[in-house]
This record gives sequence, structure tokens and C-alpha cells, in this order.
Amino acid sequence: MKELQERIVQDGKVLSASVLKVDAFLNHQVDPQLTMKIGQRFAELFAGEKITKVVTIEASGIHFAMATSFALGVPFIYAKKKKAVTLTEEVYSAPVHSFTRQETYQISVSRQYLSKEDRVLIVDDFLATGAALVGLTNIIKDAGAHLVGVGAVIEKSFQEGRGLLEQAGVRIESLARIESMSPEGIHFIQEEPA
Ligand code: 5GP
Repeated sequence: MKELQERIVQDGKVLSASVLKVDAFLNHQVDPQLTMKIGQRFAELFAGEKITKVVTIEASGIHFAMATSFALGVPFIYAKKKKAVTLTEEVYSAPVHSFTRQETYQISVSRQYLSKEDRVLIVDDFLATGAALVGLTNIIKDAGAHLVGVGAVIEKSFQEGRGLLEQAGVRIESLARIESMSPEGIHFIQEEPA
């Protein structure tokens, strides 16, 4: 997605060869117009898949799941990272190891909201090591739901996430694929013209 790539170049900050800060428009301050266009794009890419639910993880995936589910006309669910006191019902859960924080946490989704009738699209801000998204795919598998695919806003293609998901046979659509980056510049894997 050209507009997204241009925005990453303009407002993103490469903190190291592996960490990109996009707090100006995506991870802290949020550009709602761009967010809605991203949701529209995911809806177009997965059109015809009869998606019934969009699933993400709190917090940085929520606005993209919202925009995508709005475009598709279906609900979205965000997996919770901490068991809230209000989450009293039975849950599907999976461990996720965060390489950036060097800790393992549990993500969970209430059993009430996912079932074997569901056709699920996962949406998230970044595809990096893939740990978070693999955790979500395990939850969807436990629920017996059908995973239609994964929509990642930014993919760091030099990390192992795409490979892990592809091995599991998951369709991945990323709107900006970063081949490499450094404070001097960001190189994208260019999309094929439609
Ligand atoms: P994973 O390594 O499991 O694919 O990524 C987990 C989460 O870490 C992503 O959803 C994203 O929120 C965060 N993350 C990973 N790499 C980056 C990065 O380079 N920049 C930012 N801002 N967040 C990242």
C-alpha cells in the first residue's frame, strides 16, 4: 500500500536494524483516515472469504481490527493479555513469548465469542517474529474455527514470522513489507502491480 509505505518513510523512526517506531501515526498517536483505508484494503483483499469475525490482540491491533470489521460488516474480538476480573467465563488461551520484552504472557478469548462456525481473519499492526500471531492461530484452532488468513499492517520480512505462518499453511497479506532497514533508509519488498 503506497500511502502506508510513504508514511512509514516520512514519519517512522528506525531505532535499530530490527525495531521501527511508528508512534506518530500508528502505535500511539493514530491517523484515523489512514487506519480506515487500511481496514478497507484488508476487506478488499479477503473479499469473498465469508469472514464472520476479525480477531486481534490488545492494544495495538484494535483500531485496525475495528476498521477492517467495519468494512466487512462483522464483529471483531481482541484477545486479552491479562485475565480481567470481568472475564469470568471459560476462555481459550495460549502462551506468547515477547522477544522485545523477554517475557511470556498468556492471551485469552472467551469461548462465548468463537465457535466452529466462524471464519476468522486475524489482523495486527506488525508481523515480526510471529509469536503473537501464532498464539492467536492456536486459539482459533482450539475453537475449531476456520482461519481465512492474516492481515499485517507492517511486516518485517527479515524476521521469521512470515515463514512460521506459511509453514502452517496460513495466507498472509501485509500492506508494507520491509526487506531491510537502518537509520539511513528503509527498503520495501515492492508489491506486484494489480
Ligand atoms: P511478534 O514478534 O510476535 O510478531 O510481534 C509482537 C508485537 O510486537 C507486534 O504486534 C507489535 O505490536 C510489536 N512489535 C514487533 N516488532 C515491532 C517493531 O519493530 N516496532 C513496533 N512499534 N512494534 C513491534
